[in-house]
Amino acid sequence: MSLLPIRGVDVGPDTRCDHYDSELDVVAFRFACCDAYYPCFQCHNAVTDHEAVPWPEYRFDEPSVRCGVCDATFTVPDYLDCAYECPNCDAPFNPGCAAHAELYFETGDK
Ligand SMILES: [Zn+2]
Ligand SMILES: [Zn+2]
Ligand SMILES: [Zn+2]
Repeated sequence: MSLLPIRGVDVGPDTRCDHYDSELDVVAFRFACCDAYYPCFQCHNAVTDHEAVPWPEYRFDEPSVRCGVCDATFTVPDYLDCAYECPNCDAPFNPGCAAHAELYFETGDK
C-alpha cells in the first residue's frame, strides 16, 4: 500500500494540526491540485502558494479521505455515508467538518 504524503502545519500522528486539534479532528483530505493529504484547508494554504482545488466529483471513485487513527483511506461517498465514524476503525470524526465540506470536495450545491 503506497500512501500519499500528508502535509501541513504541526501535523500530529493522528493528523491533528495547528488549526484543528480536538479529539475528533483526525481526518485528512486529499486535494486535487497537488495530490497530497492535508488535515485542513488552512494547512494547504499555509504550505502551498496556490488556490486549493477541492476533490472533483468525477474522481469520487478514488480514495480522497484518510483516517488519521488507522491510516485507512476511503472515498467521498464512503465518508458521507459513515455518519462521522471511520468505516475501518470506528474512530469518531468531527461532524463540524460538514459545515465547510465544499472546501474539500465538490458537494453539488453550487
Ligand atoms: Zn494544492
Ligand atoms: Zn490545519
Ligand atoms: Zn480509522
